Amino acid sequence: MSRPTQAIISRSALRHNANIAKTLAPTSRVMAVVKANAYGHGATEVAATLAGHVDALAVACLEEAVQLRESGIDQPILLLEGVFEPAELSVASELDLWVTVENELQLSALCHQDARENGFRQALQCWVKVDTGMHRLGFAPDRASAVCEQLRASGLSTDHPVLFTHFADAETIGGEATQAQLALFGSVELAAEHPVERSACNSAGLLTLPQAHFDWVRPGYLIYGNSPLDEPHEHTRALKPAMTLRSAVSSLRTLLAGQTVGYGGTWRATRTTTIATVPIGYGDGYPRSAPAGTPALVNGQRAPLAGRVSMDMITLDVTELAHTALGDEVVLWGPDLPLHEIAAHVGTNGYELTTRMPARTPRIFVDD
Ligand SMILES: *Cc1c(COP(=O)(O)O)cnc(C)c1O
Repeated sequence: MSRPTQAIISRSALRHNANIAKTLAPTSRVMAVVKANAYGHGATEVAATLAGHVDALAVACLEEAVQLRESGIDQPILLLEGVFEPAELSVASELDLWVTVENELQLSALCHQDARENGFRQALQCWVKVDTGMHRLGFAPDRASAVCEQLRASGLSTDHPVLFTHFADAETIGGEATQAQLALFGSVELAAEHPVERSACNSAGLLTLPQAHFDWVRPGYLIYGNSPLDEPHEHTRALKPAMTLRSAVSSLRTLLAGQTVGYGGTWRATRTTTIATVPIGYGDGYPRSAPAGTPALVNGQRAPLAGRVSMDMITLDVTELAHTALGDEVVLWGPDLPLHEIAAHVGTNGYELTTRMPARTPRIFVDD
């Protein structure tokens, strides 16, 4: 028998969510963001699952793109932050990647004679990033047009760069900051004879800003079946969480009132209590900061965490459940126990919980 701790990833849920993205933005193309190992779900498997269901993929860096290409993924892949050093440009060209150009160094590296002499396999499809208010990456809106012209003139970029920006607070529905960002993005004036495609929306924008869908939408979190919005929303109900983090009860004991559970003895039984031990801990990506009371599902019924999360185990108070046996299934998050609810207990968001899951936790892809 093997350790029962696994992340089950539903391929049909991933495809379903990608199709929702397509339905929400029917005249746009969908770029699925699979950075950080597809938010912890497993990038190569997720990319293969989405082939034919999305129009392109996006990653954070060259290493992530190389991994996808080596696994046989031949869809377009955008490097969301571009290259970190000029030498990466020829690899990007070799692997037929799309590159973000967001700062002057990246621009001059692309326009530099050396790059030309190093023999690019082909001109790079560039995505020019405009800083409309996130203030992290990108050119000022009044500089963007000149950047596009310079890239065009370089001969190393394709003739039609894509202009894109990123929202800082699209999660706040109707937020003024997002409207201001959109207005600035719209203010970028480009030469009429050189039309460009545009892109602005992450998952939250895709859900709530149809006027900002433009030519490309770039959902990440939504593809995995999660909503970045604080409130339920008409378009989020149909999403299907792709990951179920599961394990099973491995030990059971009865505590008397006054006895404590776990490191530091931080949790004390106030009555005769049944404690179920589950072999999943912070070494598997279940956060150590999850406080007592955080729910898990034992046989589909809620039971609260009791005592500290260890590296390899947690302990649940199953006193209220009718019957608990060794081997009973435990779900830490999944379709029936929302990731965002666990994240709220922990004081983080669902993005961080799945993204931090280590390689130790097997990702099991299922067709269901
Ligand atoms: C990560 C990322 C996204 C996806 O954001 P979600 O909130 O996961 O949809 C889109 N665009 C850029 C530039 C990103 O870095």
